[in-house]
Amino acid sequence: MQKCDILVRNVRVLTPQYDIADDQYIAICDNKIVAVGNDSQCLFASDTVIRGNGKLAMPGLVDSHVHACQYLLRGRLADEYPMVWTRILVPFESSLTERECYISGKLTYLQQIKSGITTGIEAGGNHMHSVAEAAIESGIRAVLTRSTMDQGAFIPASWQQTANECISRTEALYRDYNGAGDGRLQVWYAMRQIMSCSPALLEAIAARSAELGVGVHAHLAEHKDEISYCLQNFKKRPIEVLEQFGLANERLVCAHNVLLSERDMDLLAQCGARLCHCPRANLGNHGIPKTPALLNRGISIGIGSDGASGCNLDLFEELRLLRFTVQASQGLAIFDPVVLTIKELLNMLIWGGARAARMEDRIGRIQEGYLADIILINVMQPHIWPTSSLINVLVEGVRASDVTDSIINGKVVMRNREVLTLDEEKILHDAETYRQEIFSRINV
Ligand SMILES: [Zn+2]
Repeated sequence: MQKCDILVRNVRVLTPQYDIADDQYIAICDNKIVAVGNDSQCLFASDTVIRGNGKLAMPGLVDSHVHACQYLLRGRLADEYPMVWTRILVPFESSLTERECYISGKLTYLQQIKSGITTGIEAGGNHMHSVAEAAIESGIRAVLTRSTMDQGAFIPASWQQTANECISRTEALYRDYNGAGDGRLQVWYAMRQIMSCSPALLEAIAARSAELGVGVHAHLAEHKDEISYCLQNFKKRPIEVLEQFGLANERLVCAHNVLLSERDMDLLAQCGARLCHCPRANLGNHGIPKTPALLNRGISIGIGSDGASGCNLDLFEELRLLRFTVQASQGLAIFDPVVLTIKELLNMLIWGGARAARMEDRIGRIQEGYLADIILINVMQPHIWPTSSLINVLVEGVRASDVTDSIINGKVVMRNREVLTLDEEKILHDAETYRQEIFSRINV
């Protein structure tokens, strides 16, 4: 018998080919998966054994676009008319203190872990040192970015930054937190959106991100004003502007990607950018993406929650929403009942997420040598079982709340839906206290 740190036994496993292997074991040493195989042939022993009977083990999910600093806005954005950005988001986010961002970060990571998310990619927030501390404590894997912008109307003085300040603040975050939390944290550059970044800032982000070899996360092709700004100022579309400034490359990870022309999609494919859709947020503001056309070009697409906009972080729900809206808009139009297959959708959720985090060689597979980021789903429930195809039901019926256990970087962070790293009761109490304080202070 060989000793390992965590041993999951008698569990169904989602294979890298998106099939189900029954009655498997998964052995974890340190932060890696060291063996997967038939349980009857398991030669491992461990002090921490998780019984997987009635459960499915799958790679932990990647929330490819989340705003950890917007969490205390929950419930405040429904039925609002434009401009939500200027009337609510800017006054709210710009007023947050370090402590409030820390609590907001903890609430986000608590909810992410309870939703089966093991990696969160931050869209860019305030006081990210505080959010980084929250990420380290929670045990989650995270890509952190700062909200980066040096131009635009309606930005209060407290939030205005020069291009140099934008760069130096991200570099301070990189210096202090890249690789922190036993390697769980990455720090990247961000562009809030093209219209919020001056040409000098775009040039600096391109140069410094290349030197450090880190990703650049951006909102792209999200709304009409952005396209209009690019056409007016550069006579180019957004992706062409990024190309001009040396930002259209394989380190670009862009969210939304709805308003794309055929040529835009070709350029995204050529430059190797990684995309992520935020289906619910897109439907409210921007429309339905041309997902089949993007996939046909070989572009990788992950799924993001866009944070507070939808109140929950259920990426299974986001995937279903994408499936049905794309089917209704692009399948019905050509009488094609299968414009996105179940395996294409699963591949977006898992592989597309791993690619969005720029970690596809380390996460997104339950396979020997990969990092131990694994979630267990309780299959023995009437909305899932019995089924002729668990793969199909994974997309059609499983919910975030069906996730019972979560292992991140080889540590058990949730057991039977109890998050072991965070004090849920205290976080909810503190978050409500700070929420009241923020709304008594700002006028939105
Ligand atoms: Zn966003």
